[in-house]
Amino acid sequence: MIALGIEGTAWSLSIGVVDEKEVLALKSDPYIPKEGGIHPREASQHHAERIGSLFEKIFSEVRPDSIDIVAFSQGPGMGPCLRVVATAARVLALKLGKPLVGVNHCLAHVEVGRWKAKAKNPVTLYVSGGNSQVIARRGEHYRVFGETLDIGIGNALDKLARYMGLKHPGGPRIEELAKDGKHYYELPYVVKGMDFSFSGMVTAAQRLYNSVAIEDVAFSFQETAFAMLTEVTERALAYLNLDEVLLVGGVGANSRLQEMLKTMCEDRNARFYAPPKELMGDNGAMIAYTGLLMYTHGYETPVEESAVRPDFRIEDVEIRWD
Ligand code: AMP
Ligand code: MG
Repeated sequence: MIALGIEGTAWSLSIGVVDEKEVLALKSDPYIPKEGGIHPREASQHHAERIGSLFEKIFSEVRPDSIDIVAFSQGPGMGPCLRVVATAARVLALKLGKPLVGVNHCLAHVEVGRWKAKAKNPVTLYVSGGNSQVIARRGEHYRVFGETLDIGIGNALDKLARYMGLKHPGGPRIEELAKDGKHYYELPYVVKGMDFSFSGMVTAAQRLYNSVAIEDVAFSFQETAFAMLTEVTERALAYLNLDEVLLVGGVGANSRLQEMLKTMCEDRNARFYAPPKELMGDNGAMIAYTGLLMYTHGYETPVEESAVRPDFRIEDVEIRWD
């Protein structure tokens, strides 16, 4: 069976085609803001203008009549962006005469990670622009055991980077600068129960930037934020008595975050997993794969139920597979 999936919850416009075993095609055309952060209307206009040519690229590699299912990211995400993707998915499904499957974006990160990194029952640390969550499966649902109380870690990195005059996306630029950091400056370490918060840290780091070297700000920010994420992930492992950690989401590309999690896993005799980089950030293949998994377990989204869900939670999906 072959599934096509469209991702477009925020900046990433991406279409992937998969079968049960592998990614057959993956094409992306990301929205990159000229200045400032991601503007939902501008991002959605970008998606609307580019989605046609992205389909042409995909269909130059796979035949349209080979597609069995059309999957799309139904939420969570930015309303205007989600609507472009949902509309395109409905049109394609109707034109091909194939079923439509609405996919939860966070679930897709977890499932593509389990698929390609081969983790079985992990504690997942999902770190992206808009989301930061510690997720694990309990029975027929995934549960969020800890999450950000304000902004996602990626958003925090991007905000700080922007303040320091760096281009979007800021995460990779901060990672580079942090490698040359020499002094650690204390920043607010905010973990409340199993939840964490980043916006106070961003403000404090912005203040720090006015008096110390940019490399040290980047270094101090990464050390503090990633230690918070590692602490909560470790606590989830201990509470749930699990022994696998799966790292997903765009910020998961960060080698310092990977290193901290690996060290923690070694100390606990747990195993660390991460999908290949092209499947780590937002991508169409994860939507296609999760759509395929859902469809083969009885899910289908009738057009009248295909409205976008900007606040869609991973807990809302019943998990019918192992
Ligand atoms: P996503 O929303 O999952 O596609 O992830 C996008 C976010 O990942 C943006 O906020 C980027 O700044 C961030 N990001 C990408 N690469 C890195 C990196 N190497 N280190 C830290 N953050 C990163
Ligand atoms: Mg994401």
